[in-house]
Amino acid sequence: MFGKKKVYCFGAKKAEGDGSMRELLGGKGANLAEMSRLGMPVPAGFTITTECCAEYYALGGVCPDDLRKDVAKALEATEKIMGAKFGDPQNPLLVSCRSGARSSMPGMMDTILNIGLCSATIPGMIEKTGNPRFVYDAYRRLIMMYSDVVMEKAEGIEPEDGQAIRQQLDRMMSDLKKEKGYKSDTDITAEELKVLCEQFKAKVVEVLGVAFPDTAEEQLWGSIGGVFKSWNGKRAVTYRRIEKIPDDWGTAVNVQSMVFGNMGETSATGVAFSRNPANGDNKFYGEWLINAQGEDVVAGIRTPNPLNEATKNEHNKDLPSLETAMPEVYKELDDIRKRLEEHFHDMQDIEFTIQDRKLYMLQCRIGKRTGLAALQMAMDMLSEKMIDEKTAIMRVSPAQLDEILHPILDPASEKQSTVIAQGLPASPGGAVGQLVFSPEDAVKAAAARKSVILVREETSPEDIEGMRAAAGILTTRGGMTSHAALVARGWGKCCIVGCEAMNINLAAKTLTFEGSDIVYKEGDFISLNGAKGYVYAGKIDTMDASENPVFVNFMSIADKYRRLGVRTNADTPEDAQRALAFGAEGIGLFRIEHMFYGKNAETPLSKLRKMILCDTDAERAAALRELEPFIKASVKSTLRIMDGKPVVFRLLDPPLHEFVPKTEDKKQQIAAELGVTVEEIEKRGENLHEVNPMMGHRGVRLHVSYPLIAETEYRAIFTATAELLKEGFKPMPEIMIPVTVSARELDFQKAHCEKVKAEVEARTSQQIEYHFGTMIEIPRAALTADRMARTAEFFSFGTNDLTQMTFGFSRDDIGTFMGDYLGNKILDSDPFQTIDVKAVGKLVDLGVRSGRSKRPGLKCGICGEHGGDPASIEFFNKIGLDYVSCSPFRVPIARLASAQAAIREK
Ligand code: PEP
Ligand code: MG
Repeated sequence: MFGKKKVYCFGAKKAEGDGSMRELLGGKGANLAEMSRLGMPVPAGFTITTECCAEYYALGGVCPDDLRKDVAKALEATEKIMGAKFGDPQNPLLVSCRSGARSSMPGMMDTILNIGLCSATIPGMIEKTGNPRFVYDAYRRLIMMYSDVVMEKAEGIEPEDGQAIRQQLDRMMSDLKKEKGYKSDTDITAEELKVLCEQFKAKVVEVLGVAFPDTAEEQLWGSIGGVFKSWNGKRAVTYRRIEKIPDDWGTAVNVQSMVFGNMGETSATGVAFSRNPANGDNKFYGEWLINAQGEDVVAGIRTPNPLNEATKNEHNKDLPSLETAMPEVYKELDDIRKRLEEHFHDMQDIEFTIQDRKLYMLQCRIGKRTGLAALQMAMDMLSEKMIDEKTAIMRVSPAQLDEILHPILDPASEKQSTVIAQGLPASPGGAVGQLVFSPEDAVKAAAARKSVILVREETSPEDIEGMRAAAGILTTRGGMTSHAALVARGWGKCCIVGCEAMNINLAAKTLTFEGSDIVYKEGDFISLNGAKGYVYAGKIDTMDASENPVFVNFMSIADKYRRLGVRTNADTPEDAQRALAFGAEGIGLFRIEHMFYGKNAETPLSKLRKMILCDTDAERAAALRELEPFIKASVKSTLRIMDGKPVVFRLLDPPLHEFVPKTEDKKQQIAAELGVTVEEIEKRGENLHEVNPMMGHRGVRLHVSYPLIAETEYRAIFTATAELLKEGFKPMPEIMIPVTVSARELDFQKAHCEKVKAEVEARTSQQIEYHFGTMIEIPRAALTADRMARTAEFFSFGTNDLTQMTFGFSRDDIGTFMGDYLGNKILDSDPFQTIDVKAVGKLVDLGVRSGRSKRPGLKCGICGEHGGDPASIEFFNKIGLDYVSCSPFRVPIARLASAQAAIREK
């Protein structure tokens, strides 16, 4: 690592780096280099590598020696291009210092602007610009940013609420404005700013005990160290955890010549997207502010102007667009937009500054977008021939697809509600929840499984955990590119910003809206329409958004590329229907026991209880005869819906004691039906109690002990099949035996199954075709898969139990310690969500190979929860499973993840 090139220069249409060097230069650095190479107007500067950040940490928080030499050289090159000198009293160059990791972490790390302003350079800068007000404004910004980022945050100081240096300085500035009766920052005069800067510096010494550095050199090195340290700041670490960004990547540091958007009315700064990041519309979209520096747009302090006429909204329709205010600059920017899209073949997020009518590009990167926008853009770019089908499929992540399938407010019930306020539609979808006023309360409420709407004046990166926990976010201030909007969009979370009619009383935790006396309290419900920016009082119904034709088209292209089949886990006709609509190709798991839970389960459950609690075989046979029609009806209705598609029926799996009645009236009812006392029922129930039921009398073991139960299930399935055949349907039942550990269990069951089938065929004069298979969910089964495959015609890996049994972690009690395992990095992810490739995955792989060695072509699927997890699907694709099976709502995700796995494999 030592001795490697640490600094890469860019500027004057040239660059040492390029766009492919994200890992080394970070996303921002790589793209600044690329834009320079493309001849775009990028202010000159240089990037210190991410490797250097790692070295900085390896040295215990010190910059490596040779970095000083390299930075000095790069600074010289920059000075040459810009025709000014850093720290020079006559002709000073000012620079910015920005972080830039491999993948963008909006608002999570720090930026310092106007570095180089100090006693020695201020007079020269005033001379050069002829604008003292501008210089002192730049200086006060530098003091604010530097003291916050370098002197406080980077030093690990955690001030009390409201006592952060930045907040204290902000308050001093507001007090000054109040005292003078000024409305805007721009009303403060040069002289007043000059005094304020001195007061700021005195405050910095008072609060932090250290003087604000007064040389350009000291400021530069303080800033470089501050940016390195911001990589391990609290916000950045939290964001990385949520986004699963590795800690060891480090950040690059970009030092770049300053250009000024705050030099008066002919200067401006802005943020733009080459297409609309909220809904994907192919329209240049963005916001800009006259006479402002970049931080003003993202911080959401003023309502920004629209970029062009076509994308004006309710809030900014009366403000001038860049298109009309500075047409030539807009044209140049629009041209750059087109060139960037053509070059990167993707939507770009752009930061620009206009200094005295001259355009400068400060950043471009692949823009974050909602799921809806990702889908729309992928399909649009495909039809524009900008990308091919495979690229289009890779452009929508399974998580984004999940977001598209998430609910929106039901238009019908929305129509009947009155909008109480409107903000900017920052991130679409619908959210319904209870009001909370702080990120901490949002986290608490989410832990208690409450759906909440986080209401804030404006969000700051510190709010990140609360924003994550909330179902929706609503802010008073901010534009479409404010921090809240950006982050929410990245997560696909419903978000409305800039709802200026909203008045928050933080102390009382209440909320009012202009034009109404109604006071909304913490815990009250509100609903948000993130696509329109509408706020409603109370709860509005939601619906899913999957009928979008663009979505349907996208999915059919994805299907062309996938190899894995996708089935669903469903046990009711409604679920089966939903899964079919989502594209399921069969049912991979119909859990028979589910007919005894939930809706309409009362009667079959009472029959089952009677069967469980009776005493003799004769009684049991009679109870089973009563139960059988219910099982048959349930099986038949699902087989009918799945006509022509395979349905895997799994025999009863849970230990019987789960069904023992617990309430007094139910016990009495069963006692009366069986003609025994309640005490006797209780005694029989207790006899079924097991110390370790998950490893107890369940699954195939029950059916070994009670063949009558198995025969009832077989008979119900075959009779339903025969009846459907007679009615002209094409039922395709598959029978699956759970929790097997031995081939002999299967032989034992198969014999009963065949006997019953022959009886049903004789009785109904129908020829029944079916497949007989087993779950592989216990390590012994996986290890003896070759033997199991002698009888089993298919395997379905039950990775829930297989994970439980392999780790010895109880799947029902995992919550007590999983957090500790993840927090201490003993496990990278929860193995019940993402397959543990090292051991559980190894067992699946072994099971497939060993099974197929005895029965070539053995059909292998998976029906544990991992069947809908994209990372697990990638693995299942690799080891050659035939299909995955997951819950209906995850079917599209599994289809997409399978297609992406297949594309990646090639
Ligand atoms: C499994 O164990 O993975 C499985 C699908 O079965 P169940 O979740 O019903 O135990
Ligand atoms: Mg299981």
